Amino acid sequence: MANQEDIFRKVISHAKEYGYVVQSSEIYDGLSAVYDYLQNGAELKKNIREYWWQAMVQMNENIVGIDSAIFMHPTIWKASGHVDAFNDPLIDNKDSKKRYRADVLVEDHVAKIEAKIEKEVNKAAKRFGEAFDKEQFLATNTRVVEYQERSQTILKRLARSLEKEDLEDVKNLIVELDIVCPVSGSKNWTDVKQFNLMFGTKLGASADSAMDLYLRPETAQGIFVNFLNVQKSSRLKIPFGIAQTGKAFRNEIVARQFIFRMREFEQMEMQFFIRPGTQKEWYETWKKIRMNWHLSLGMGEEKYRFHDHEKLAHYADAAADIEFKFPFGFKELEGIHSRTDFDLGSHEKFSGKKLQYFDPELEESYVPYVVETSIGLDRMFLAVLSNALVEEELENGSTRTVLKIPAVLAPTKAAVLPLVKKDGLPEIAHKIIADLRLDFNVIYDEKDAVGRRYRRQDAAGTPFCITVDHQTLEDNTVTIRHRDTMEQKRIAIKDITSAIEKEVAMKYWLQKLAVD
Ligand code: ATP
Repeated sequence: MANQEDIFRKVISHAKEYGYVVQSSEIYDGLSAVYDYLQNGAELKKNIREYWWQAMVQMNENIVGIDSAIFMHPTIWKASGHVDAFNDPLIDNKDSKKRYRADVLVEDHVAKIEAKIEKEVNKAAKRFGEAFDKEQFLATNTRVVEYQERSQTILKRLARSLEKEDLEDVKNLIVELDIVCPVSGSKNWTDVKQFNLMFGTKLGASADSAMDLYLRPETAQGIFVNFLNVQKSSRLKIPFGIAQTGKAFRNEIVARQFIFRMREFEQMEMQFFIRPGTQKEWYETWKKIRMNWHLSLGMGEEKYRFHDHEKLAHYADAAADIEFKFPFGFKELEGIHSRTDFDLGSHEKFSGKKLQYFDPELEESYVPYVVETSIGLDRMFLAVLSNALVEEELENGSTRTVLKIPAVLAPTKAAVLPLVKKDGLPEIAHKIIADLRLDFNVIYDEKDAVGRRYRRQDAAGTPFCITVDHQTLEDNTVTIRHRDTMEQKRIAIKDITSAIEKEVAMKYWLQKLAVD
């Protein structure tokens, strides 16, 4: 079996070969951690955004969506804490001259210990077979217990030191754990320093009147500063939410792992404004709602887990990540944060404007509390793409490459293929396309033998192939082939739209959310 690194490399090359994602400015040797989405990538990204937006905004009476500007008044980033605290601790290796995030070095070390735990669990599961009780094993196996304690101790110390900004202790931790630079293999480290992740730019033409700005590092602040504008114009009552999708920019120290960590990326965020004191319930509720959204896509329950934060950001009183099993392990995909009244309260102070809500039931005004859900669109894209890529062994001994993208998200919903390029078959295929196009994104393909065309569509992630053959001329039926099962059925041309719609229409997927 291919190892995880090989699988990840395949995902990256497949993304390029099939028109999903490439490095930005490639012909100039690329720009580090910046990527371009090509024809299929742009569609997949748009569909993920749309599925999120509809689940949030369209399906909830009390959530509305906005689109605020990327440029914002610079004082906003003072108020939000980003100017002072949006830092990552960096460390350099003096031999390789490579730069690392100090906390990530420690976390990677812990991940290795956790991988050992997983190995022990798998070994024991094999040994004990059906009788295996994972919980009991984790609680009693001395080696595993020791591993767990060791990783907990390390993570706690890291969290404590970062919270106190004790960078010397972060360095000591790296030294004590004998962490070496993956490039030079040496332990010749510099001290740990803080590095602010915001990109600066200037607004205005003349040098003396130009204003220093930042490119927004998150979309959330555009929601906070518009909280009253939206509340007043919508007359929404608390609890209510404001959603937004859009670009964010972070000058990440280490930008690795393809589109997992980018310098320019897109977020999908929702701030839910609530009565102070109700944050615990809403936090739990939103954790559930968001996990359901992920599960509705059918990528497998075992691919997700919650991770509660040890170290809380300056604004939060509770925080959890939804982690996804990427080819390089479980990593953060989405954050759910209970942000208290930190942001609105702080904007009140810095702007001198009241940002309060008059609660008609309580007959009093207050600064609302906020529970936020924040997911990276590009990370979600990577989750979908990496999970979808499968090399399948077929019964006849050959293999096929399939992108099993959830049908609702697939860039192209169907390909229409005339069996041959003559006898009037292309004309019928074009007519079918003209009809289907009104509902779905579809393509026409007549090049190569039909078997090769099927494979091409499988690899591009197209859920259906519609083949027009000589029988079509006689009885107006076509073959519809299903990407995942490869099952082929004959159906009437007039039934194609409904056959496709049943599997790809967003409404059927959204219904699953409503039932849950
Ligand atoms: P990380 O710990 O991975 O740096 P974070 O905790 O700083 O992420 P948040 O500030 O909570 O992330 O941002 C919310 C979401 O935005 C993340 O869950 C992730 O999906 C996405 N995100 C954050 N930074 C990046 C990035 N550099 N590239 C792509 N997506 C990102």
